[in-house]
Amino acid sequence: MASTPTTVPTVQLNDGEQIPQLGFGVFQIPPADTVETVVRALQVGYRHIDTAKAYNNEAEVGQAIHAGGLAREDVYITTKCFNDDHGFDQAKRALHASLERLEMTHVDLYLIHWPVPAHDKYVETWKALVELQKEGLTRSIGVSNFQPAHLERIIAETGVTPAVNQVELHPYLQQVGLRREHADLGIVTEAWSPLAQGKVLDDPELEAIAGDHDVTAGQVVLRWHLQLGHVVFPKSVTQERIEQNFDVFGFTLTDDEMARIDALDRGERTGPDPDTFTGA
Ligand code: NDP
Repeated sequence: MASTPTTVPTVQLNDGEQIPQLGFGVFQIPPADTVETVVRALQVGYRHIDTAKAYNNEAEVGQAIHAGGLAREDVYITTKCFNDDHGFDQAKRALHASLERLEMTHVDLYLIHWPVPAHDKYVETWKALVELQKEGLTRSIGVSNFQPAHLERIIAETGVTPAVNQVELHPYLQQVGLRREHADLGIVTEAWSPLAQGKVLDDPELEAIAGDHDVTAGQVVLRWHLQLGHVVFPKSVTQERIEQNFDVFGFTLTDDEMARIDALDRGERTGPDPDTFTGA
């Protein structure tokens, strides 16, 4: 079986900051369950929580961290500016509101959640994030669901490269071209729905590799992400899975196993298309 180290590796960001490579996602955790679930994740050892205004549980994430008795600097917090908060002034107000809900003076990473090209306000929004970082309200700034054209445009118009791009990424949607663009631009890849919300976990190839290491398919998928350098934050409300998803540092996939997983790519999204999604 895999065994858990006491510390999770960190990944260097292009602004000098570090991010814990493995965290805990809280999308679709109902607000009423969030405090208890995040407290349990903190007890297991997670020190990086990925939330968003759109998840409606920022206040509960904040409560869990304050209840956990940890120092603020010991937990890495990401939140996101949603589609209805695009625009310079609106985006600035949105982070202030998130900080009030979280009961924090700053977050570690603030992201534009979706580019929403139909509204064409993501450049203005990015300019607001640049200012918010200068004001110390977020240590790092980045984007989510940006395609290469969106990345190139914000960099060309502001001269500021996002620290991360958080995109849907798992064995059935490997985003090879986008990852190459990230590497060229010095952007860290964050993988959302790293387990494809469970849809990859009964894949026979993943099950075979898992059997060879005496781990689960979920642990194999997370290990594949980590070995590729992705930042991941699997979500679970199930205690056994919360523990299992953190226990991914006691085994290593071989080059051959990595290649077998690379071969599973089908270009298959589980979530919305970033070029057209405008939000609920
Ligand atoms: P995940 O790929 O993390 O999968 C979560 C699902 O898989 C849940 O149904 C969970 O079930 C199940 N699961 C978790 N671990 C295991 C395991 N070891 N074995 C079997 N099943 C398991 O999906 P998410 O969409 O939640 O993505 C993770 C995080 O990414 C989100 O929480 C959010 O923080 C972020 N995200 C960002 C988006 C963006 O647009 N920027 C979009 C979507 C997600 P159960 O909870 O019942 O245990």
